[in-house]
Amino acid sequence: MQRPNIIRANAAGLPVHPNWYDYAGQRASFTWAQAHQALGLDPGGTLNIGDLCTDRHLRQGRGQQAALDFVASGRRLSYGQLAASSTQYGQALRCLGLEPGDAVFTLLGRVPELFITVLGALKAGMVACPLFSAFGPEPVRTRLDLGAAKVLVTSAGLYQRKVLPVLDQLPALRAVIVTDDVALEGTRTWSSFMQDASSCGAETAVTRADDAALLHFTSGTTGKPKGAVHVHGAALMHWMTGYYALDLHPGDVYWCTADPGWVTGTSYGIIAPLLHGAHCIIDDAEFDAYRWYSILQEHAVQVWYTAPTAIRMLMKAGAAAARGLRPDRLRLIASVGEPLNPEAVWWGVETFGQPILDNWWQTETGGIMIANAPAFDVKPGSMGRPLPGVEAQVVVRDAAGQLQIAAADEQGELALRRGWPSMFRAYLNNPERYQASFCGDFYLTGDLARRDQDGYFWFIGRADDVIKSAGHLIGPFEVESALMEHAAVAEAGVIGKPDPIAGEVVKAFVTLRSGQAPTAALHAELLAHARQRLGAAVAPKELEFAACLPRTRSGKIMRRLLKARELGLPEGDTSTLELPS
Ligand code: ATP
Ligand code: MG
Repeated sequence: MQRPNIIRANAAGLPVHPNWYDYAGQRASFTWAQAHQALGLDPGGTLNIGDLCTDRHLRQGRGQQAALDFVASGRRLSYGQLAASSTQYGQALRCLGLEPGDAVFTLLGRVPELFITVLGALKAGMVACPLFSAFGPEPVRTRLDLGAAKVLVTSAGLYQRKVLPVLDQLPALRAVIVTDDVALEGTRTWSSFMQDASSCGAETAVTRADDAALLHFTSGTTGKPKGAVHVHGAALMHWMTGYYALDLHPGDVYWCTADPGWVTGTSYGIIAPLLHGAHCIIDDAEFDAYRWYSILQEHAVQVWYTAPTAIRMLMKAGAAAARGLRPDRLRLIASVGEPLNPEAVWWGVETFGQPILDNWWQTETGGIMIANAPAFDVKPGSMGRPLPGVEAQVVVRDAAGQLQIAAADEQGELALRRGWPSMFRAYLNNPERYQASFCGDFYLTGDLARRDQDGYFWFIGRADDVIKSAGHLIGPFEVESALMEHAAVAEAGVIGKPDPIAGEVVKAFVTLRSGQAPTAALHAELLAHARQRLGAAVAPKELEFAACLPRTRSGKIMRRLLKARELGLPEGDTSTLELPS
């Protein structure tokens, strides 16, 4: 179905946002000193993410307020409890003899101990790295090894299945702590570890904006996952983006569906909401449409941060799953991780009475950079505009190889002016690659985009995924979005298939919504629909029905794998590939 290409911010019936602001005015007047002031910090002074997320709230009298609310177990931690247990955990790390900068990993589901470990490690000046608990032994080993993990917190079951088989290859690891109270050789229990704490210093470490705080691994969509190092100063970015892009306020009921094993789940599942004093809902269960709708409703979620893959699954589950849903309190829905097709933005309007606000960022940026914010009109399919304090540009190289700012609507690489507070400071063990990501004052993102006359950014594709067909540059996103407009299509993944005449031809892989059959008639209809929407030069020449598309563990479509399989080539690093469960 074709729809209007703009949703006005002030349209009747849309939610009202307490952080409503004037985009152009606030961007022009914003300085990072405002973020310092909001967090009670002196520019150039000390700051510690763990302290800002926990003890700061105690000092401001919010100790009783709910911080973390775990849906499955019914456990709940107030800001006061979170502050006390993370301090105790940090003390226990010191008792182990750990030094500032040492790496503390978790391999856990979304349980309280994960949050306590991350915040406690930060408060003690160590570097925190949560790993996704669904990884197998080899991805776990490579990450623990690359990050020189000194301590690992895990569960007894995960330890036996995923750590024990590779333990002898991890010489730096000094202690494994298991959250269950079972005696396992070579490990310590959480409770005994915490009991030891009282003899060691409880004070928060003196850390500064440039001190390492977090280690995040990229999703591995385009190749081997990279380890990105982040610093305590990132808190300023998390505060700013929590305010402008997510509209967070103290006490807001907030649900981030990302696992802390990915940067979204740490930056926006732990840090940003806790900086703002939000009440976080945490769910550890597998995706289930009925469960998700009931969480939104029963917990009266006000701000919901999720991902296109989850939205596509909810759309696929159909209207029946959403029947009876009355998310009256829901004020904002945001999405990140992959392009959000216009159909999904409109689905938000139909299902929740508001557009889903797409935003763009990467593991390397540490925080949201470009967003559709409540303050301005949404153009469905666009990733929005740069947030205050962020300079984003589309750049192209001139004949001499120099970077130039692209003209409006010209395609080029998305680049960010360096210096935003959550910019990554290193790729682990790969200084050359880090250096190569920068050109002069700009960080080059590896994504292609264009900026329209109104300053909105439009994602074209990853530089690696863009298709060159008969002299045209074709972004897979545009083709996938057009296919998804068809009522039978649940998901689409588009690649360039080598062709002796055109260079590449566009090939689409399509999964269907429930109740749709992959018939020859539908095949022809989808190709015709795409031709009519995109024109013959851009529309797919080939289309294949698929039962599912390969994705990363974080849910992203892996086009490189579709291509490798199509061409019968080696699949490369597949350690982050989601396995059928
Ligand atoms: P790897 O770097 O290992 O290949 P990855 O790039 O998928 O994996 P992440 O840092 O998790 O790892 O993802 C960031 C990338 O995801 C972006 O560079 C972009 O390609 C894509 N992305 C994120 N948000 C959006 C969005 N709103 N629209 C389009 N693409 C997005
Ligand atoms: Mg990347």
